[in-house]
Amino acid sequence: QHHRWQAPNNPMFDPELLSYTDNKLRLMAELRQGIEQNQLLLYVQPQIDLQQRQLLAAEVLVRWQHPRLGLLAPEYFLEMAEQLGVVYSMTEWVLQHSVAALAELKAVYPSLKLAVNLSSKDLLQAELIDYLQSLLEQHQVKPASLVLELSEQTLADDPVQALTMLQRLEQLGVELALDDFGTGFSSLFYLRQLPISHVKIDCSFINDLHKSDAHIAIAGAIIDIARNLKLEVVAEGIEEQEVEQKLLRMGCTRGQGFYYSRPFELKGLVPWLKQWQQSSAPRA
Ligand code: C2E
Ligand code: MG
Ligand code: MG
Ligand code: MG
Repeated sequence: QHHRWQAPNNPMFDPELLSYTDNKLRLMAELRQGIEQNQLLLYVQPQIDLQQRQLLAAEVLVRWQHPRLGLLAPEYFLEMAEQLGVVYSMTEWVLQHSVAALAELKAVYPSLKLAVNLSSKDLLQAELIDYLQSLLEQHQVKPASLVLELSEQTLADDPVQALTMLQRLEQLGVELALDDFGTGFSSLFYLRQLPISHVKIDCSFINDLHKSDAHIAIAGAIIDIARNLKLEVVAEGIEEQEVEQKLLRMGCTRGQGFYYSRPFELKGLVPWLKQWQQSSAPRA
């Protein structure tokens, strides 16, 4: 899962990229510059209430419009950015534009939340707390409109520092979600100890849920534990209607995935919402 830049099925894949990304230092110098020159783009993917057919949130997914290589997904630059210490400035850029978007969306759809992914290195930056607080105040956005997604991987680097940071983020009033759940090692411990309100079941269990008894067992166990601990559970990677129906029968009522929408540019969110509201009436 860590050397994903050879992904052959990625429509954005360009063979030139493979040799190009060998030159990490050059690419990261370009990323620093690219952040300043606003070459990053925010994509979003809707998160749906599977019963009510309503938009609950949108996950923000960063893209880099590289001047020569084209549109790059995070798999092409995120790990390098983490290793080479560039990721926090990217995170600030993403947070700044996400909170500004929340301020604008408030008038159209006040209950909508945006979920932003954090990297492990971000939890080593104590200034993140003050940065977020002043951003939310500046844009007059309710902290609870912002969800921060963290994976077990994000917490593994320095669990003690990470827990302190999560507690401070919770005090600030933002919501926390544990991402990619089921792929790490200390899953159940984290569910009990962390101030999280959401758990996202990793898409590797969800993609083929209707075809795999093992994945049904795993997803079912996660759903039951999460509900007992009063956590919201979100299924990631729903690609087919059978999977949605299966999840509903298993008691999972939130999801996102290509079945509803692939990620698209943030500016398409309000038009998407209008379309969605027209085409999918709430179920009786
Ligand atoms: P993630 O947070 O688990 O995000 C979900 C990923 O699954 C996204 O990939 C999304 O496009 C993809 N996905 C959504 N629905 C489906 C589906 O039905 N089927 C399949 N096969 N895939 C689906 P993406 O956008 O390439 O992002 C990959 C990862 O990069 C994210 O995983 C997240 O960990 C990281 N990431 C994305 N944006 C940011 C960011 O702004 N900051 C940080 N630190 N990490 C980010
Ligand atoms: Mg995520
Ligand atoms: Mg995930
Ligand atoms: Mg992830």
